[in-house]
Amino acid sequence: MQIMQIHEPGETPLPHEGDGVIAVGIDLGTTNSVVAISSDGVAEVLRNEDGSGLVPSVVAYAPDGSAFVGELARRLMLDRPDAVVSSVKRLMGRGVEDIKSLAGTLPYDVDKSGGEGSGMVRLSVAGQRLTPVEISAEILTALKERAEVHLGQKVEKAVVTVPAYFDDSARTATKDAARLAGLEVLRLVNEPTAAALAYGLDESAEGVYAVYDLGGGTFDVSILKMQKGVFQVLATGGDSALGGDDFDHAVAEHFLAERAADRGTETMTSADVKMALMSARLAKECLSRQESGQWTLDIDDQQTFHDLDRARLETLIAPLVDRTLGVCRGVLDDAGVASQDIAGVVLVGGSTRVPLVRQRVAALFGKEPLAHIDPDEVVAVGAALQAEALTVGSDTLLLDVTPLSLGIETMGGLVEKIVERNTPVPVSKGQEFTTFQDGQAAMSIHVVQGERELVDQCRSLARFELHGIPPMTAGAARIQVGFAVDADGLLTVTAREQTTGVEQTVEVKPSYGLTEDEMAAMLYDSMMHAQDDMNRRLLAEARVEAERSLSAVAAALQADADLLAAEEQEEIVETMKRLEAAGAREDRDAINAGVEDLERVTRAFAERRMDRGIRSALHGVDVREFESAAEPADGVDTDQPKT
Ligand code: ADP
Ligand code: MG
Repeated sequence: MQIMQIHEPGETPLPHEGDGVIAVGIDLGTTNSVVAISSDGVAEVLRNEDGSGLVPSVVAYAPDGSAFVGELARRLMLDRPDAVVSSVKRLMGRGVEDIKSLAGTLPYDVDKSGGEGSGMVRLSVAGQRLTPVEISAEILTALKERAEVHLGQKVEKAVVTVPAYFDDSARTATKDAARLAGLEVLRLVNEPTAAALAYGLDESAEGVYAVYDLGGGTFDVSILKMQKGVFQVLATGGDSALGGDDFDHAVAEHFLAERAADRGTETMTSADVKMALMSARLAKECLSRQESGQWTLDIDDQQTFHDLDRARLETLIAPLVDRTLGVCRGVLDDAGVASQDIAGVVLVGGSTRVPLVRQRVAALFGKEPLAHIDPDEVVAVGAALQAEALTVGSDTLLLDVTPLSLGIETMGGLVEKIVERNTPVPVSKGQEFTTFQDGQAAMSIHVVQGERELVDQCRSLARFELHGIPPMTAGAARIQVGFAVDADGLLTVTAREQTTGVEQTVEVKPSYGLTEDEMAAMLYDSMMHAQDDMNRRLLAEARVEAERSLSAVAAALQADADLLAAEEQEEIVETMKRLEAAGAREDRDAINAGVEDLERVTRAFAERRMDRGIRSALHGVDVREFESAAEPADGVDTDQPKT
């Protein structure tokens, strides 16, 4: 069995395995975010009713402090710029100092005074001071909820993608945001690596790949090397202020120039500019599919009409596309790779839908890029595959990680794990031990590998002795045992008596110390145990869900039974009885099916109740209540249409 390994610098250790139930993959984007789930190696992007998998990474705050995320929030950007935050990803892990370089590129007010203590940037939004972590957490919560609604069960684990260049503080901020959203991050995966995984490039024997990612506001290109099952990031580069938004600007300027030629110069508010940008974006996106069209600018109740065809669009954006190619050449240089040596190019990001972008990229690399997975979903797809591999375990069980836990034998034949399985390498970890007997002068260190709790169920890797411990009473000596696994999977164990400095070191080679068969058997074993636990948990959760729906329907019947015809009510009661019966048995599928049945037979009932609820709620509520409370605050710079 080949252990697939992918090198990802700066990854975080994986928490304990096996206690995962369902883990989703999340692409937390600057412009749009996507959540996907994989089962049996097939990933599915979770969509809304309109079939869209993209959740705009935009958060709007209502006057009561509650937040909403996505398309609705994006639409509010025009009217309530002070209450809406977009592009918050640009601020993740940034300090007040860092932000100075972003001045003018952000569509909202940054609190220059900084945060108490932490130095973390804060934003003033709808009268609140919020950190980027809190705002990102709202987006993650929305994605988590989308997944929960879709799956009908709690989702508490995720693989979240981050740009390859994200530094430690940006990665930590991303993890913190997930924690706030109630998600445990199984792993942060680099976006280009996720895209490569989505295309199954980890299964190819060897090669150097380019990942070209042109999103809304950022451009990233990475060169990945796949060798002996390990992905290495050879080089990354990009431009954090170049993306589809700039295409929109170019088109909007063109429209506004046409309008000015027609009507003379007008004074424009920032809302007018944003309106023009929205038309431009629409035009740009349409022209990826069609050859030409007409768009309207509606400013000051005066409409102008603008014809645009693809050829004209291409002349407007060509200089921008060329800039991305310049960056690509630089990154190829850094990686020491010639463009013709690239085995494949993966397209990522909504802006790679633009035909001109595809043509130019194909020309640069001399081959057709891979684009058959939707470029704005491909990162989430890869993340979902990774999430499945990390929870359920699969053939693509991965990465530059220690494939099995490493530990040492302690009293009673027990194993103390020092480096958990799937911890990304390189890693070094230490733990302190002490002597067991008075006057003990030597200590035997037994290094083992495996997932089970008892030494004899694990694989013995090495034994060595630490001599020269000064005579002390039992428990007084302090022996620091350190495990260091380097990027090649080489383990070095050191044992050092802290008071005297006596030290012993031994090198062990864990993954190669096991035969492939042993490795397979051990993984299988630990996965089987994880499976038992997981089944029990899933059953318990299905029961909870069944109880929840039963009591919700019972309460609804109590309140609004008059909305139902007699036979409808009878059907619902029958279905409830069947679900109750299923809940008493150990059959999770039957319980889930029962919950679904109940949902189906109560759907019309729920709709009628909702109608009734809305009608009564609308009685006496003034819609302007929200609007007046969200009046723009003074001093907010609304003249930044870039998103
Ligand atoms: P991010 O990674 O920054 O979150 P996305 O990958 O979602 O961003 O890309 C968003 C950008 O893609 C926007 O500028 C959007 O206008 C652009 N885009 C989306 N669909 C198309 C299309 N069909 N043609 C051209 N550009 C598109
Ligand atoms: Mg993206």
